[in-house]
Amino acid sequence: MCGIVAYIGTNSALPIILEGLHRLEYRGYDSAGIALLRNKKLAVHKTKGRVADLEAILPKRIAATTAIGHTRWATHGAPADANAHPHTDTANKLAIIHNGIIENARELRADLIANGTELASETDSELFAHLIAQELEKAVEIERAKHGLLTDAVRKVLLRIQGAYGLAVLHEDFPNELIVARQGSPLVLGIGNNELFAASDVSAIVRHTQQVVYLDDGEIARLTKSGFEITNLHAQITHREPAQVTTSVEEFDKANFEHFTLKEIHEQPEVLERVLRGRLEERFATARLDGLNLSPRDLLGVKRIKILGCGSAFIAGSIGARMIESLARIPCDAESAAEFRYKNPLIEADTLYFAVSQSGETFDTMAAIEEIQRKGGRVLGVVNSVGSSIARSCGAGAYLHAGAEVAVISTKTFVATLLMFAMIALLFARTRDLSPAAGTALINAMHELPGQIKAMIDNDKDYRAHAKTLAAFDHAYFIGRNAGFGVAQEGALKLKEVSYIHAEAYPAAELKHGPLALISEQTPTIAIVLNDELEKKNLSSIEEIRARNGGVLAITQGEDIPTANLGCIKVPQTHPLLAPILALIPLQLIAYYAAIERDCDVDKPRNLAKSVTVE
Ligand code: GLU
Repeated sequence: MCGIVAYIGTNSALPIILEGLHRLEYRGYDSAGIALLRNKKLAVHKTKGRVADLEAILPKRIAATTAIGHTRWATHGAPADANAHPHTDTANKLAIIHNGIIENARELRADLIANGTELASETDSELFAHLIAQELEKAVEIERAKHGLLTDAVRKVLLRIQGAYGLAVLHEDFPNELIVARQGSPLVLGIGNNELFAASDVSAIVRHTQQVVYLDDGEIARLTKSGFEITNLHAQITHREPAQVTTSVEEFDKANFEHFTLKEIHEQPEVLERVLRGRLEERFATARLDGLNLSPRDLLGVKRIKILGCGSAFIAGSIGARMIESLARIPCDAESAAEFRYKNPLIEADTLYFAVSQSGETFDTMAAIEEIQRKGGRVLGVVNSVGSSIARSCGAGAYLHAGAEVAVISTKTFVATLLMFAMIALLFARTRDLSPAAGTALINAMHELPGQIKAMIDNDKDYRAHAKTLAAFDHAYFIGRNAGFGVAQEGALKLKEVSYIHAEAYPAAELKHGPLALISEQTPTIAIVLNDELEKKNLSSIEEIRARNGGVLAITQGEDIPTANLGCIKVPQTHPLLAPILALIPLQLIAYYAAIERDCDVDKPRNLAKSVTVE
């Protein structure tokens, strides 16, 4: 997780780093820090808290043209000033910032302590600083040429590290260079005019340059203001041409909205139009997803589909799996990538795997992909971030084109993923027994979605009122059946993430197998009642809850439900496959307004971070 931004050039580094840190704050925000080189002297400023807290302790102006900055998401050691990055060696000559986890930290720490090194923090990351300093001492003793000395020392340390890192290193004896490295955590270089940038996400540098180079795992880059040199862990040089990023600065601005979360919810109609653009083949009543790289024969050969993801991406995958199985009649399920990767999964040649990730950097999903590919399986990406690690390692797939999602909770990328899976379902179904007329009906319903969602979002007065009611409770259940259960899962996740109301989702039929014991006046239930063949069964579940004095708020596509004593939210009619997309919109807004009502930091919920690049 965490944000890394680094600069070497001719301009003042401080404002560049601070602006970058603000952009990256969504990746982690428990501490922030910066190290600068001023007159060949290292200066480090760091604190527990947000980037704004860091700004408060910084001198107004620092004349430096080389610096590194970090926002932390703690893995080793609580958020505290001492644990904030950058970390330095004992002589205070070099500073490092790190994104990721050192898995053999315990052994390395014990070695350092045994050699008399005093450690200043509880972090795993600090070990880098001391180890690099020690390697440098050895190298200087044997008088190696200065060029590449720091890179070599970093490389030697990396060979001893097990785990994941995005790393940046600054040393006052090497004032004209910056070293960055990557293993499992993203790192991108930005190529400017007489200046070089590095960051864990293009959002931090896109204001300055759109020429970028994505580092691959096991690569180290030595940056000077006039260029960069990339080598691997065996010191071999790799040549890379910069790519042009299309992301614009505006995507990272709140525009007129109070929060990114609300802005991104409002962007959904436009996002869905983009998801559909150029991807529907009306003549054959099917979808056209060239990026999947699947010929009709390939499509026909798929016997089973498995979708992998984490968090919201996993829930979106579960709803997507139901879409594919019900429309295309191909066995399909979704699994948490983190569980999948560790169960020594059976990989079958005629199973097609999809890896879903907003950031394209989710560590566990990436590891699941490696496991599938290592065993000869075929895995395609459903990813938002263009050029991300998952997109690159899958090689084929579908981009969501939802634009940058800055708020920690996913909203627009979630609905974009659902629509993408509806198109994938259509594509497979039309190679099997779905008729052209049925395909056309689905396509027509897809075209209507953006307008329907816009009308719902523009009319959110009711949602606010319901959010106010829910905000008074500390617990809530969400129930639904089949696709409705997927909606319930995402609704519960959204509510708990941003408002800290304890919310749990259950398949409606499971309620009586345990959770009903907790139903009371103090615990309301949000019931998802889609107008499918299970509507009547859902109404019975509501009766059971009411008989135990539990309040019920219903999300319904049909008639009002009189037993839902907390009210009914009506969702427009659509094709049954797409109903979850519409049913989700009120739940996103309710979570948002409940968080506002409870005075929570909606864009940056406590303990969380976007782009989960650690295990
Ligand atoms: N493992 C490091 C720490 O706990 C880095 C965490 C991060 O990625 O922010 O400080």
